[in-house]
Parts: sequence; structure tokens; C-alpha cells
Amino acid sequence: MATFINLRNLLEHQIEDLYSAEEQIIEALPKMAEGATDRELKKALNTHLRITRDQKKRLDQIRKILKKNAGEESENSEGFLERIFGGGTKCKGMEGLIKEGNKVLDEEMESTAVKDAAIIAAAQKVEHYEISGYGTARAYAREVGLRDVEKLLAVTLKEEYTSDKMLNALALNKINLKAETSGGTKASAFTAARKQASKKSTSSTTATNRTAPRKTSGTKRSR
Ligand code: FE
Ligand code: FE
Repeated sequence: MATFINLRNLLEHQIEDLYSAEEQIIEALPKMAEGATDRELKKALNTHLRITRDQKKRLDQIRKILKKNAGEESENSEGFLERIFGGGTKCKGMEGLIKEGNKVLDEEMESTAVKDAAIIAAAQKVEHYEISGYGTARAYAREVGLRDVEKLLAVTLKEEYTSDKMLNALALNKINLKAETSGGTKASAFTAARKQASKKSTSSTTATNRTAPRKTSGTKRSR
């Protein structure tokens, strides 16, 4: 019955979902890094692979804390959670994102810059999924008073934001332009104007790859 469920149960489910997501990312990132041509992009993806391995360890720590703190209520609602979330721990959302990303990687592309741009797009979708998941989980941990869990989740959330920001900068400052002008295509008027503007100012205020606002979870609130 629905009365079994509480925020603590949802937090546990979020952690399992994120654990599965990170495991899948660890498997997928080497192929993405291998497929990338741009040196900076390759390096960024390999660095993020190392970071992701640490994030998985952090989730292990969180699992231990949750287990230690687990009350009877949590055990009783296990069956209910299995039913509403379909059981198993594989994160289907991440599975889909990775599948889509792999499709792009398997595609024959004449221009390496176009492929790099596509890899960034796929990687940013993954980052945004994680930002959303970790943002929500952190808000839940705060709500139920698990400060140590909240702190661990905040560390990872910050890393995901940093990675997204780095991918964004790579796309905007280099790879999108390279992809645009690959195969001898002339840069658009927009690009020409952007280049002109960047000569006058170093700040990047033009359109971005990122569409999500910094605060992603509607469940967050400041205290
Ligand atoms: Fe991650
Ligand atoms: Fe990530």
C-alpha cells in the first residue's frame, strides 16, 4: 500500500538508481574517449572516468550509512518499491542515454569534429541526468536529516556540474565551430558575429549547449 512509502525510501531508491547509472557510465566512458579525436575532449572524458570511479565508491559509503540507519519501515516497504519501480536496480534512463550515445559513436562520420560535437552532446545528456538525480537525492537527504549523506552527495553533484561546464566550454570555444566549418562549409553570420564579439570581450555570453539552469531539482529548498 502507498502508506508504506516515505521520503527515506525514495532516497534509497535514488541511490540505487545513481549507483547503476555510475556503473553504466564507467563501462561506457572508455569507448567515448576512444572515439573522441580532440585531445582536450579525450582528456576530459578520461578524467571524468577516474572521477566516476570515485563517485561509485562514494555511493558505496552512502549505502553503508543508509543500511546502518535503516529502520523497520524501510524493510517493510521494500516490496512496494519493487512493484512501483519495476524491481531490479538497473537504471533504464541511463541505459537509454548510453544506447543513444553509442549509436552516434557507431555512425560513420567524415568529420572528426562533427563526431566530437556529437560525443559532447551525448556526454552532456548524461551529466544532466546525473545532476538531476544527485540534486534530488541531496535534497531528500537534507529533508530526512542525514547530513553525512547530504555532504557526500553534494561533493559528487559539484563534480557533475564542473564536468558539464567543461564540456560546455569545449563545445562553445572550439568544437562546435570546427564541426560547423568542417568539409569547407563557411561559418555562419552568427559565428562571424560571435568571433567579432569575443575579440571585444572575453566573457562568453552567447548561446550555450547547456539548457538546464544551475538549480535542477524542484525539490530543493534553502534553509
Ligand atoms: Fe557521475
Ligand atoms: Fe558524470
